[in-house]
Amino acid sequence: MDNVESGDALVEAKKQLKRERNKKYRGTHREKVLASKREYDSRAEIKERKKKYREENKEHLSQWKKDWYQRNKESVLKRVKKRAAETTERRKEYLKEYFGRPEAKKLKRQQGNRYRQINQIQIKARRLAYKALKDGEIQKKTCEECGKEKVEMHHPDYSKPLQVRWLCKRHHMIADGTIPLT
Ligand SMILES: [Zn+2]
Repeated sequence: MDNVESGDALVEAKKQLKRERNKKYRGTHREKVLASKREYDSRAEIKERKKKYREENKEHLSQWKKDWYQRNKESVLKRVKKRAAETTERRKEYLKEYFGRPEAKKLKRQQGNRYRQINQIQIKARRLAYKALKDGEIQKKTCEECGKEKVEMHHPDYSKPLQVRWLCKRHHMIADGTIPLT
């Protein structure tokens, strides 16, 4: 406990020291500080000029980029592939390590049970809804969001099997949270 406290105090003291030193530096090196500010401003100016240039030469630059890509395609693709392979390998290693732990195994089992449970409820709700559709208790509609004809059934609440929303594949996935809202 003592260690933590004195550690924090030390950090704070160091910060304070730095602040004082900076202040003193600004006082004694006024010219230098101003010069560095000027340099910063001129850099910002250059940045602005570059940006303007890019905007004015958009087409030319995009053509140049395309040409560059064509010229360097092979090495770019090679690099991308290599990086992807490395990432896959790292992920594999991580998953192997992660799921090898006993607590992860237990969790996986539990999740598996939970998933099966949800799945059962889902299947049941869907079966009831399709039966209701066949019996004319509910009617098929176009996508609620975009009006597309090809629709799927979406259950916002599986405990209410006959309350369905009709959504196209895309809006169904958005409603399920499979893909983000765009
Ligand atoms: Zn839709």
